[in-house]
Amino acid sequence: MTLIDGKAVSTLVKGRVADEIKEKNLSVGLAVILVGENPASKIYVANKKKACEAIGINSYEYILPEDTTEQELLALVETLNNDSKVNGILCQLPLPKHLDEKTVINAISPEKDVDAFHPVNVGKIMIGDYDFLPCTPAGIMEMLKHYNIDVTGKRCVVIGRSNIVGKPMAMLLLHSNGTVTVCHSKTENLADITRNADILVAAVGKAKFVTEDMVKDGAVVIDVGMNRIDGKLCGDVDFESVSKKASFITPVPGGVGPMTIAMLMKNTLTAAKKQNKVE
Ligand code: NAP
Repeated sequence: MTLIDGKAVSTLVKGRVADEIKEKNLSVGLAVILVGENPASKIYVANKKKACEAIGINSYEYILPEDTTEQELLALVETLNNDSKVNGILCQLPLPKHLDEKTVINAISPEKDVDAFHPVNVGKIMIGDYDFLPCTPAGIMEMLKHYNIDVTGKRCVVIGRSNIVGKPMAMLLLHSNGTVTVCHSKTENLADITRNADILVAAVGKAKFVTEDMVKDGAVVIDVGMNRIDGKLCGDVDFESVSKKASFITPVPGGVGPMTIAMLMKNTLTAAKKQNKVE
């Protein structure tokens, strides 16, 4: 079994981004908006800021109170859309209940939508002609590439169909010539399907959901889950038992998580280059 070291691969990706920024003498800016007091979101935003600083991307943080109105939030997005120092805009989800995520995402200029959640970017991904890929699935594809795991012709099973992870993940595996099945909470006989997977991606949000009996011998297992058990971070895969069967597996922490941030940095650089017409 090979442990897929997301931390190491993410360091390589971030290093390449930092080098390119320096070589091309670019000024790159990422605006991150956080509304409210969600503790997990605060950690994610702090990590993104830290990554920006380490790489040479200017980060602009907007920490807004829980009771921010939609009008106020949209006004901020509009200001950032028109600010040439800002190449990427990210609004940390989930938003407080009184704010409509769809409206806010739609307000971000597609050219600055470094999360690739805007319908224009989602549509481009579907067609296979895109500028940005959503960070988590893109990070997973980067890890597969790094470990020379060829997707062509492989049976790929994705558990989860969210717009952020499951659906784009399935699309990227399909673009890489995998034969893809997407499972969700209404899927019948889930284990029968997952047991056929050469590449199994778990994006469920339930701790230790994928057990040994659901995994084929020699499968590549990618664990997207970020759950907490007694405060300790834990994936969607029962790592201890599944790692004995898998040929490759991502740990939690240290797998998909660090890659997500690295791909955000890469997307922000891509946005800056496009906006400044730099190759
Ligand atoms: P989500 O929006 O809650 O989606 C979860 C998916 O799992 C849904 O499609 C749901 O099916 C499916 N599901 C739930 N119970 C199931 C069951 N019993 N059998 C089969 N499928 C089931 O979550 P998400 O945003 O995709 O995130 C998934 C996990 O990844 C979470 O733990 C999240 O924290 C983590 N995450 C990690 C990163 C990272 O950077 N590492 C990034 C994003 C997310 P239905 O559609 O039928 O409800």
